[in-house]
Amino acid sequence: MNIVNIIDKKRLNGELTKEEIDFFINEYTQGNIPDYQASSLLMAICINGMNSRETVDFTMAMANSGETLDLSDISEDIVDKHSTGGVGDKVTLILAPIIASLGIPVAKMSGRGLGITGGTIDKLESIPGYNVYLSTEQFKENVKKYGVSVIAQTGDLAPADKKLYALRDVTATVQSIPLIASSIMSKKIAAGAKHIVLDITCGKGAFMKDLNMARDLANIMTEIGRLSNRNTKCVITSMDQPLGFAIGNTLEIIEAINFLKGDMPKDLKEVILELGSQMIKTSRNGDNIEENKRRILDAVESGIAFEKFKTLVSAQGGDVSYVEDVSKFEKAKYVLEFKSKTSGYIEEIDSHAIGEFCMDLGAGRKKKDDDINHKVGVILKKKIGDYVEVGDVLAVIHTDDDNISIDKLENAYRFSNESVEEPKAILG
Ligand code: URA
Repeated sequence: MNIVNIIDKKRLNGELTKEEIDFFINEYTQGNIPDYQASSLLMAICINGMNSRETVDFTMAMANSGETLDLSDISEDIVDKHSTGGVGDKVTLILAPIIASLGIPVAKMSGRGLGITGGTIDKLESIPGYNVYLSTEQFKENVKKYGVSVIAQTGDLAPADKKLYALRDVTATVQSIPLIASSIMSKKIAAGAKHIVLDITCGKGAFMKDLNMARDLANIMTEIGRLSNRNTKCVITSMDQPLGFAIGNTLEIIEAINFLKGDMPKDLKEVILELGSQMIKTSRNGDNIEENKRRILDAVESGIAFEKFKTLVSAQGGDVSYVEDVSKFEKAKYVLEFKSKTSGYIEEIDSHAIGEFCMDLGAGRKKKDDDINHKVGVILKKKIGDYVEVGDVLAVIHTDDDNISIDKLENAYRFSNESVEEPKAILG
């Protein structure tokens, strides 16, 4: 088989065979195909697409390119969730303990964020001592013993995706529905859970900018799940403004802890209830969505979800006293108020712009190896639909540098004289 012929076939919009896809993934992972040829094929895929059969073959080839976990000896009920990423997305931190507190095991391998704000793993590392690098054996042991574990994805899992994702990031080939679908699903399949709930974020701060794209991604990921015997459910959620109020690693951990203690921002609550009830249903632990939502609220109100979060943290070496008393978290040097220069109803809070502002503060990475500043970020004081007067505080900036440019923050807001409806949190 010859890689040049494979590239040429895709350039002419041909359909790649399973053998051609396996050849490309195996040889590229082993270093026998150079980056320039791989980039060329990725660009041809970006432009001409792949059908669902090709996408499934691409996914399975990447899933099988390294270690694959078998969790069936722990339980057949284990459920995993994944988000396509968003600004202020602390959903895993909240849902993992809630679902585990209901007796449904959660085994979650998460990523670090590249660009905009940190990922779940960066957020968890705000808690002193929390170890995100458990061995696979220890990860499985914790799921067995405590019903929950959240760790960083190991390099042995879907190494083809790791290599290809890094290449896509620098060759403008991330934006392709079959490539995004296969990238996410290959990691989920290799991570071993039989039940998967996918949060497809949609809006300015997300990969999927409109609902049609989000639906296409949902359809292909559900199909990959079906063909790989994974019970898969997609929920489309809005990223038209940041989720909740906090953006930034420690700030989001604190918001997650407060949520588990009963302080639930409206949009975040809707997303938690929808995704959580689908996690219960998908893992075959309750068919009635409304009843599942009630069980989730009970888990928060009774305190069992918060207790489970403390168990998760202590089982991974984290200092629980920070969870019990969030005032212990180290704070940024400066806490600055960002005030409105306009009166009116807030019509837009551009999540992407807010995310970039937080990245400039140090909350996210521009390059893979950049350090993150856990303390910095933004707390929104108002959301879309709120009315503000000139001088009202729109947000509070947590920063170690008081000489920052606030242009991006200012440009993130748009106002209207007419009243504005709150955006829906769940889009499909
Ligand atoms: N997240 C992933 O893991 N892969 C993509 O391609 C896009 C988002």
